[in-house]
Amino acid sequence: MRSLPNIIVTGTPGVGKTTTITQLLSLAQEEPQPLHLKHLSINDIVKDRQAHTGYDEELQTLIVDEEKLMDEVEKEIEDGAGSGGWIIDWHSTDGFAVRWVDLVVVLRCEETSVLFDRLSARGYKDAKVQENMDAEIFGVIAEEAKEGWGEDGSVVELQSIKVEDIEQNAASIYEWILNWVKDQKDKPTAT
Ligand code: ADP
Repeated sequence: MRSLPNIIVTGTPGVGKTTTITQLLSLAQEEPQPLHLKHLSINDIVKDRQAHTGYDEELQTLIVDEEKLMDEVEKEIEDGAGSGGWIIDWHSTDGFAVRWVDLVVVLRCEETSVLFDRLSARGYKDAKVQENMDAEIFGVIAEEAKEGWGEDGSVVELQSIKVEDIEQNAASIYEWILNWVKDQKDKPTAT
């Protein structure tokens, strides 16, 4: 039984996942009783644990070995046995077991000119910028998440367009975590 929830913060590259998670973790540290939240960067796992089979030159990205990746993720979060508190940072929810994750936050940046600027600033080639812009316009990642976790509140979409959104989104995820913890404590224990 987890004492803290596991959360995926997902969305198209450039929507602000890493920035928002960094803000969330510092918010959790500022509290008188800090919550032990941990950033799980799937990008780092793909790179550091060789969970890839090659490199796609056109899309400037490693080709992910999904089976190996999910084995590594499961080792980190220990399936249902872990204590939770993982804030997972990845541009997809594909492959994650529904039971591992209590909340999916999909960050959105539907102001395409804003997203375009963020992706271009990373030096992405046109094909990669276009692929990501299309994914954002069609809401591909939000749809994928709802297929996995349903429409009952386990998937939330938050706008990440303006600078103020970062702080506000981090604060609302933090609030959700506090409520989750409270609900767990209030639950009658099985006898
Ligand atoms: P992701 O992890 O989703 O790829 P990042 O967190 O790395 O995205 O953010 C990409 C860039 O966009 C960074 O330079 C970040 O400062 C900026 N950014 C992200 N979200 C916002 C926002 N809501 N307002 C302004 N800039 C943002």
